[in-house]
Amino acid sequence: MQRHAPSAPSAKRGPDYFPAAPGKNVVRVVPLGGVEEVGRNMFTIEANNDIFVFDVGFQFTSEDSSPGVDYLLPNTAYLEANKDRVRAVFITHGHLDHIGGVPFLMERMGNPPIYTMNLSAVMIAKRQEEYPDAPKPNLIVVQPGTTHTIGSTKVHFFPVTHSIPDSMGIAVETPYGNVIATGDLKLDHVDGIPTPEEVKKWTGLGAQKNLLFIGDSTNAEMEGFSIPDQKVYDTLEEIIKTVKARLIIGTFASQFERMIKIIEMSERYGKKIVMEGRSIKSNLEIAQKTGLLNVKKETFISAQEIADYAPDKIVVLATGAQGEEFAALMRIATKQHKFISLTPRDTVVLSSSVIPGNELSVQRLKDNLFHNQVSLIHYRTSDVHSGGHGRAGELVWINQKVNAKFFMPAYGYYSMTASHAKAVEQAGRPRESIMLTENGMVIDIVDGEKLEIHKDKVPNAPLVVDGFAIGDMQEVVIRDRQALSKDGMFVIIATVALKTGKLRKSPDIISRGFVYLRESQDLLNQARLLIKKTVEDSTKGMNPVDLDYVKNNLADVMSGYLFSMTNKAPMVIPVLIGV
Ligand SMILES: [Zn+2]
Repeated sequence: MQRHAPSAPSAKRGPDYFPAAPGKNVVRVVPLGGVEEVGRNMFTIEANNDIFVFDVGFQFTSEDSSPGVDYLLPNTAYLEANKDRVRAVFITHGHLDHIGGVPFLMERMGNPPIYTMNLSAVMIAKRQEEYPDAPKPNLIVVQPGTTHTIGSTKVHFFPVTHSIPDSMGIAVETPYGNVIATGDLKLDHVDGIPTPEEVKKWTGLGAQKNLLFIGDSTNAEMEGFSIPDQKVYDTLEEIIKTVKARLIIGTFASQFERMIKIIEMSERYGKKIVMEGRSIKSNLEIAQKTGLLNVKKETFISAQEIADYAPDKIVVLATGAQGEEFAALMRIATKQHKFISLTPRDTVVLSSSVIPGNELSVQRLKDNLFHNQVSLIHYRTSDVHSGGHGRAGELVWINQKVNAKFFMPAYGYYSMTASHAKAVEQAGRPRESIMLTENGMVIDIVDGEKLEIHKDKVPNAPLVVDGFAIGDMQEVVIRDRQALSKDGMFVIIATVALKTGKLRKSPDIISRGFVYLRESQDLLNQARLLIKKTVEDSTKGMNPVDLDYVKNNLADVMSGYLFSMTNKAPMVIPVLIGV
C-alpha cells in the first residue's frame, strides 16, 4: 500500500554512520536520547577502549506525535555495532525515563552488567517480571562513595539528591580527567543555601581534575532555587495534623520520597492509610521490601474498610493528580469509585505540579472535585509540591563546584538544555567549553583539549514499542496513522479494461474521516471524472497496462486535487482491478 499526500515527505531512514573506534587520546561522547526531549535518556562515554552506557530510558508518547505507539526508545544501533567494547550500563536512578528501556534494549547491547544502587536494582528486577522473554539483567548493586574498576577504567559512584532514594552520579576516570554525569538531581538546601553535606560532596568532586560535566537540564528554565523538600514536608505535616476530616492526597508514584514521608507522618498522627492506584501500591511494596519504609502493618486499610473509621482518621493516597482519566483520583472525583465517595467535609490535596500538556485534564479533575464541594489545596495555593530537578541557581552552583573543562547540558528539550547553557555562561563559563548536543552526534574530546564534532550522526531515530512489537521507527506507519487521524482516508476502487485502458464503469469512492460524503456530491462527481481521465490518460498507448504505474499516478493526482479543493490531505488509496 502506498501513501500519497502532498504535505508528507517521503519516509526517511535514519543515518547509518558508524565511526571507527576512537584513538587513545580521545574521550568520546555520543548522546543517543534525552538531549532533545524529556525521556528516553541514554548517552555513552568512551575512553581507554571501554564504552559505558548511562541510563536506558524510554519516553511515553503522545497521541499527537505518534498515534498507536506506546513508547519511544533510544536507538542502540551504534552500541550493537560496538558490542564488544560495551563494558557496562550505569543506571542513575529508578525513574522510568532512566530504566524504562531495560527490558527492550539490554539484549541488543550484549546484555552488559548494570551498575546501580539498591532501590533502582529492585525496581528494574520487579519490572522485568512483566517481560519474561527478555534476558535476565545482570544487576550489580553499588554503594555510594565506592570506586570500581570496569574494563580498564576506574569508575566512582556518588549519591545525589532527587525525588527518589538511591539516586546516584558517576565519575569515569580518563587520562585527561574525570567525566562526571549526575542523572536527575537537585540540591538539598535551606533558603538557597546548600546543606553542608552537599557542599562537602561537590567540593570533593571539584577538587579532582574534571574533564567533562554532564548535568540535568529539566528545570533549567526556572530561575533561582527549587522549593526545598523540607518545606513541602512541613506543609503536608501541618495539613495532616490540622485537617479535622478525611484527607485525600493525590501525587505521583515517582515521588517516592514524598509518598514515604506522607505515610510516616500519617501514622504518627494516628491515621489509617488507604492506597489507591496500581503504581502507588507497587512502589509501596518496593519501599517496604527495601526497608525504606517501616510502618505498622495495621496502618494500612483497604478502601472497603473506610466506613469503619472516623473520617478524621483517614488519609487516602491516590494516583492521578494529572487528571488521568482512569486513575484513582479521577474515578473518585467522578463518583465512579466503588468505595470512596467525596463529601463537602473532605479535603483534597494535589501534591504535584501540572506537567505541560496535562493542563486540560488537570482542569477537568479540579472541576470535578469542586462539583463534590470539597476543600482543595494545590501547589498554587500552598507549598505542597516541589519537583525533583534543580533550577538554574542550583545548576550553576553545582557547575561551578565541579569546575570541569567542558560542560554538556543533558536531559531535556532543547529549550531546557539551551537555558542551562545560557545560565552557566552568564555565570562565567566560556561559551566554547559548552557542548549543546543532538541525539546521534559524535563528539570527540581530543588530547583533553579540543572538541571535534563528527560531520555525520550515528543512527538516532527512536525505536518504538508498539503493543508487543519493538522495531525501527516505522515512520511510514506512524505517518499513516497521523494522516488517518487528521484528515482521514479516501479509497478509490476502479475496474480497468487491460486491453483498452478504459474504465469499465464509474469508480467507487469510500472515504472515512475526510468529508461528509452526502454533502460533498459535487466534489465526488468531479473526483470521479478526474479519476477516469487520469486512468485513461496514463494508460494511453500503454501495452500491456502497468497498473502499478497507473495507481501511483492516480494517487498523486487525486491527493493534489483533494488538497486543492479541501485543504486536507487524506490518505488516498487507489485499488485498481484489471479485467
Ligand atoms: Zn528522575
